Amino acid sequence: MDVVVVGGGIVGVSSAYYLAERGADVTLLEKASLGSGSTDRAAGGIRAQFSTTVSIELSKRSIEVWERFEEDFHTDIEYRRPGYMYVARTGSTADRLREAIPFQNDHGVESEFLSPEEAVEYVPGLRTDSYVGTAYCPTDGFADPHLGLQGFSRAATGVGAEIRTGVEVTDLEAEDGGVSVGTTDGTYDPEYVVVAAGSWSPKVAGMAGVDLPVSPRRRQAMVVDPESPVPESNPLVTDLDAGCYFRPERDGKALVGGHFDEADPEQDPDRYRTSTDLDWTVEAIEEVSGVADYFGPASEIVRGWAGLYAVTPDHHPIIEESRPGLVVATGFSGHGFMQSPATGQVVAELVLDGEARTVDVSALRADRFERGEALSETYFSA
Ligand SMILES: Cc1cc2nc3c(=O)[nH]c(=O)nc-3n(C[C@H](O)[C@H](O)[C@H](O)COP(=O)(O)OP(=O)(O)OC[C@H]3O[C@@H](n4cnc5c(N)ncnc54)[C@H](O)[C@@H]3O)c2cc1C
Repeated sequence: MDVVVVGGGIVGVSSAYYLAERGADVTLLEKASLGSGSTDRAAGGIRAQFSTTVSIELSKRSIEVWERFEEDFHTDIEYRRPGYMYVARTGSTADRLREAIPFQNDHGVESEFLSPEEAVEYVPGLRTDSYVGTAYCPTDGFADPHLGLQGFSRAATGVGAEIRTGVEVTDLEAEDGGVSVGTTDGTYDPEYVVVAAGSWSPKVAGMAGVDLPVSPRRRQAMVVDPESPVPESNPLVTDLDAGCYFRPERDGKALVGGHFDEADPEQDPDRYRTSTDLDWTVEAIEEVSGVADYFGPASEIVRGWAGLYAVTPDHHPIIEESRPGLVVATGFSGHGFMQSPATGQVVAELVLDGEARTVDVSALRADRFERGEALSETYFSA
């Protein structure tokens, strides 16, 4: 089976690996360099704390791969698992977190509801007076997205995939008679094409007349050297009411992110501002200093950047065979790194078996919005 994968982000390289590992003849086309889209701009968070079955399952099956990544892919992705903690300032946010926990536990996710006083055991700097409750899952964590990308791409070439960078897909046709992929360096006529082009997916799928409700939204992050070090054992902490998060980086530093502006305009993925805004930096520091006491006035900004979330109306991805021969895996919002291993497996199954077995992704079809079957998630990505 000849397959062309469009996009050399984490979703594309994972899909290329699982397809080639199962014997497909895979060519991955990336218009720039591997990871140059959103993947190299991700915070690396890996969690199973969600409130929909399909998100939990995509994460759980992915975590099984991340856990064994070093042995299986011979790449140390610096996977650390101090957990994820969601902190709630209001009773209604706390209620939403509390209500999701039995559902998560039923799905094998070891989350628990903790009082702010109990949460201090894990987040020593937590400003307990600001919070009414927290949700904590000790098996969540984070890893380095670029190392994950490298591991998958090396493994993909190791099982025969061809990875071509600097080759842009400029034309795509998928009719019942077959698939044709026009590029800046020749034309391909594979049996299948996989559109894994992140924020560019609507443009790429649109070439074949497939309309994807995916919209690029800008998100900023930075590394901070805080006044007092963030312990390595500190979980990734997300304040759902303030819209910010932080996690330990190396040497006591912190990776800080969040979104505070009501306005969240759609971006042109080829022309958005990739550095941080000064007012965002000030607000982000203010917000995280309200979460935990590590971020006093002597904190220093080490570096910052902006990237894109490829967002769908319900913040869940679209994974489907949109047309015979055209599979789409996109719109992962803030979850595309963590869920990429299971997504790659599912993509390989859609192409080679005609249906997904690893995770039931029928809830992720693009027409769910027209059918009034959009999903609903409690645990937002800030
Ligand atoms: C600040 C920030 C923090 C984040 N934190 C997390 C996190 O903690 N955990 C998590 O799981 N996710 C996180 N994410 C989200 C994560 O980065 C994305 O979900 C993930 O990288 C999506 O991967 P992808 O392969 O779908 O897309 P991308 O990485 O964007 O890759 C798409 C690729 O397609 C290529 N392409 C586009 N058009 C063409 C074409 N015509 N021809 C050939 N190639 C083309 C692009 O050049 C690009 O390399 C974060 C994102 C941001 C911005």
